[in-house]
Amino acid sequence: MCLLDAAASLKALKCSKLPTMSAPPLSPPLADARTLAPARRVLGETFGYHEFRPGQPQVIAAVLARRDTLAVMPTGGGKSACFQVPALLADRSLTVVVSPLLALMKDQVDALRLAGVAAAAINSTVPREEQGAILEEAAVGRLRLLYVAPERFGDGAFMAALRRVDVGLLAIDEAHCISQWGHDFRPSYRDLGGVRARLGNPPIVALTATADPLVREDVVARLGLRDPVVHVAGFDRPNLRFDVTRVRNQKEKADLIAEKLRSLGDESAIVYCGTRKKVEALTDALQRQRIRCARYHAGMDDADRRRIQDAFARDTLRVIVATNAFGMGIDKPDVRLVLHHDLPDSLESYYQEAGRAGRDGELAECVLYFAPRDRRLREYFIDLAHPEPAVVVRVYQQLAASQGHRLHVRELMESDDEPGINAAVQTLVDSGLVARQGQMAWALARGGETDIDTASLDAHRQHALAKLDAMHHYAESLTCLRRRILDYFGEDGHDAACANCGPCLAPPAARHEEDAFSDELFQALRVVRRRFAEEANVPPFVVFSDATLHEMARARPRTRAEMLAVSGVGQTKFERYGEAFLAVTRAAAPAPAPPAPYPTPVAAVPPDLPFRARDGRALGQSVRRTWELHREGLSIAEIATRRGLSPATITQHVADLISAGEIPSVAQWVDEMTLARIRRVAGPSPLGPLAPLKEALGETVSYEQLHLARAWLNRERTRP
Ligand code: ADP
Ligand code: MG
Repeated sequence: MCLLDAAASLKALKCSKLPTMSAPPLSPPLADARTLAPARRVLGETFGYHEFRPGQPQVIAAVLARRDTLAVMPTGGGKSACFQVPALLADRSLTVVVSPLLALMKDQVDALRLAGVAAAAINSTVPREEQGAILEEAAVGRLRLLYVAPERFGDGAFMAALRRVDVGLLAIDEAHCISQWGHDFRPSYRDLGGVRARLGNPPIVALTATADPLVREDVVARLGLRDPVVHVAGFDRPNLRFDVTRVRNQKEKADLIAEKLRSLGDESAIVYCGTRKKVEALTDALQRQRIRCARYHAGMDDADRRRIQDAFARDTLRVIVATNAFGMGIDKPDVRLVLHHDLPDSLESYYQEAGRAGRDGELAECVLYFAPRDRRLREYFIDLAHPEPAVVVRVYQQLAASQGHRLHVRELMESDDEPGINAAVQTLVDSGLVARQGQMAWALARGGETDIDTASLDAHRQHALAKLDAMHHYAESLTCLRRRILDYFGEDGHDAACANCGPCLAPPAARHEEDAFSDELFQALRVVRRRFAEEANVPPFVVFSDATLHEMARARPRTRAEMLAVSGVGQTKFERYGEAFLAVTRAAAPAPAPPAPYPTPVAAVPPDLPFRARDGRALGQSVRRTWELHREGLSIAEIATRRGLSPATITQHVADLISAGEIPSVAQWVDEMTLARIRRVAGPSPLGPLAPLKEALGETVSYEQLHLARAWLNRERTRP
């Protein structure tokens, strides 16, 4: 069966170098402004979007040209619009959308109807009469989009009714589900290849977020796409900040995840676990730590799962702990945090799951927690699904030797829990050498070893292992994580460092040699924290979080200003605890300590001298007054009020002070992430006028922040 031709295509693609982006070839562009004008109008009028997302123009143009199309775009990239917009431009014909999950269909149909689009879904939950009415609408050309699950095409009455409908486009969403090479293979997708002919031969647009070349090849072949336009859109999601937290053991993982979730505030998060058992255990552990969260996995009944999914969508529940069963049906745009408790099986899976963060384009964080032993769990799963060829041969020989007697699968195991025996038996059944009934199996022939397709077995196994390797390398990467992902997906043209992931944001060289030292310092800081916590009778994290202590241990602040720059250290907390922690970090700071950032007490500056910054530049008296008030802890707004000047003027003063090196950090106005975004948008040259930057960055960054960040970054760039 399909193992065979998949193996052939694997040979052609040389699995040892996976993944390459060699096949199928990309196509020349079809999009131009004129052909796209109507699409742009629909995008604006119906969906309220004023710009296409990357890839949308090319895919929409291909679909409008009635070409078969394969669109590969990241999760959250805007794939739905690629068939919805053309569907709305089709006069009377219907777009049939195949989607794997009822929840997914329902969300999209609801959203379309709210936007005034005639759309419907037909699935097992829709009563027959209603199905009839929907198909009637379609027959008279009044329905634009019809969502169906793939099983629907096996329903004779449904197919008969569709014959009266002019189907203009067949859209296959989550198309990777058709491929056994993918991580989401669904048997119900397998027969989609023959459907087009039965719908009157409309063009097909297949959409997926999976960039694995084998899967792509398979999608094209199985759907029988004809000379398809293949568009792979940019995979970069600049608003996602990737990080890996390395831990020693599972307990530490649960603690750090709890810590991270506490810092989440009122936002939404998903925590992915590798197994149902881990979902159960982590949910319990988090709940014991008083974190409100719910579990979600395929072992729960439908009603419970629906209830949890709804609560999450409606923001009454903000944290879900789940297996990968949670997600494909979730289009929630404002998930701010996706944590992975276990190592995923591949970067595709990881990027798809992590990609559920920040669909709205706003900043979001994706953290993988990794302990050295995590790889074992994944290897175990690979052994389960893809036993080594030698194991399959051994199992066959055992069955053949018992001369047609039935053996229980357990009797075929060499050890109590040898993985993969079920899969081995199944492979033998598929090859026609063995029959099985439940857990009992027996050989149908003797001497059939040569009929066992060991090559394809091995190919599947190696493929799975190669994917795991890539994932493992990511988890251990000390260099830019975004670069790793984009390299994996075959995307060039990005910087070697993104400035918005864990390794890029860590202080240079602080990672290797200094880890041990930071760790010691961290422990010392915890002792101080415990003292304060006991004194005040509160849990330690209320004083400072672990994250804050870690950052202190890494940054080793020497001064008040540097301590305030540590995230988690606010003014009030500094007043309470700052000096005690400073005493620890100062002692650990590398000698000799540079001069304090505020060199001279204000009173010592003769009032008639022009105020000079440390770099010798003269600053006016007015700037000096702002500087004094800033040092007293007043905010820009407060200084403006106190002095009767506009905030913009005070902002300008502060920017001058930053440029002059008198204010040593912008952390109180611009957080690290925002700074990283500005850095990315600005590129390597000095920052110029603010308006274009503002345009590129949108509402999330204020002019005031931009102004101060510009001063900071330009100083950073011009310093020797
Ligand atoms: P995908 O299926 O690729 O994961 P969706 O089609 O669900 O992504 O789109 C993700 C989000 O982006 C949705 O909220 C969608 O409305 C929005 N979106 C789609 N196209 C645009 C666009 N051109 N501009 C802004 N937002 C868009
Ligand atoms: Mg989608």
